[in-house]
Amino acid sequence: MIPLFSSSAANAGIDLAGAVGRVLTSNWYVLGDEVKSFEREFARYIGNADCVSLANGTDALELALRALNVEPGDKVACVANAGFYGSTAIRAVGAAPVYVDIDPTTQNMAVDAFADALRFQPKVVVVTHLYGQMADIEPLTKMAHDAGVKVIEDCAQSHGAIRGGRRAGSFGDIGCFSFYPTKNLGALGDGGAITCNDAALADRVRALRQYGWSTKYHVSTPGGRNSRLDELQAAVLREKLPKLDQSNANRREIARRYNEAFVDLPLVLPSSTGEDYVAHLYVLRCRERDAFRSHLQTRQVATDVHYPVPDHLQAAYRAGLESQGKLAASEAASREVVTLPCFPGISDADVATVIDAVRSFFER
Ligand SMILES: *Cc1c(COP(=O)(O)O)cnc(C)c1O
Repeated sequence: MIPLFSSSAANAGIDLAGAVGRVLTSNWYVLGDEVKSFEREFARYIGNADCVSLANGTDALELALRALNVEPGDKVACVANAGFYGSTAIRAVGAAPVYVDIDPTTQNMAVDAFADALRFQPKVVVVTHLYGQMADIEPLTKMAHDAGVKVIEDCAQSHGAIRGGRRAGSFGDIGCFSFYPTKNLGALGDGGAITCNDAALADRVRALRQYGWSTKYHVSTPGGRNSRLDELQAAVLREKLPKLDQSNANRREIARRYNEAFVDLPLVLPSSTGEDYVAHLYVLRCRERDAFRSHLQTRQVATDVHYPVPDHLQAAYRAGLESQGKLAASEAASREVVTLPCFPGISDADVATVIDAVRSFFER
């Protein structure tokens, strides 16, 4: 079976044992030099002044909302097709999501739908760069800021994506990242971070990740918790960061091969294979999704669906059902999207097998 992702292929040739060894030698495991250095290096890579590393990407979203003073009862705009991560954070702070429909070509937040959602007066908008494809971040940010709305970029699938010379995470007020092992920059466990250009905002997140402390045992910020990245993960991420652009180029090249091979098929393909797409997931849309997936299964090609249930239709939050039908593009996408294997280190032969398997479905 050709898998959707392979850690061994993605980590091949990277000296992770050396990174782990460094931490073992230091005997320092939490908030030490590796974390400090990673934060400096990652902020510089993204093009922001500050980085605060955290325990995972969902915490990054939640602490970003808290640091932007989102409170119970506030509204936060976001999309409904991005796997409920943003919704998890919004619900965790007691705020209410205002779901904004997507553009059916990019699968990202539609600018006109966001303009319409401003009438609900959200305090913040979470813009997700889904599948590694950057959203229309410049117009969305301008529109939000003109209306006094803060912008969180969810970059958990878009580490390193560039538009107009700027990286995802450097456009809004705060960028949120996950370093879950399968992400474009992945640790050997959980990890996350925020980046921003506002020292006071970074300080609030830094306090929130450690019990709300200003100094040791002095709690000055409410809503704190323990959400630290540990030294082992920071050391691993430092080893992988210098190779991120190369591994993104590798992913993008695979996406280009797929796009070229499928151009004549009745499928909706990723809208860009330029530098604003880092091919975290190669997601296409197919009307006969179930039959398509079974066919690929028989050809030994793994597929998945990112994501099958839109946020407003998740069982835990039936209250969102009133938006059913108003998010037509998001709901249609959830019925058609399907993900093909696309990861750094996948062999040329496996890419060719995936292409043959897809084409043969339409040549039946
Ligand atoms: C993975 C992911 C997250 C959550 O990150 P975790 O580290 O798993 O908490 C948030 N948003 C998006 C879009 C993601 O893909």
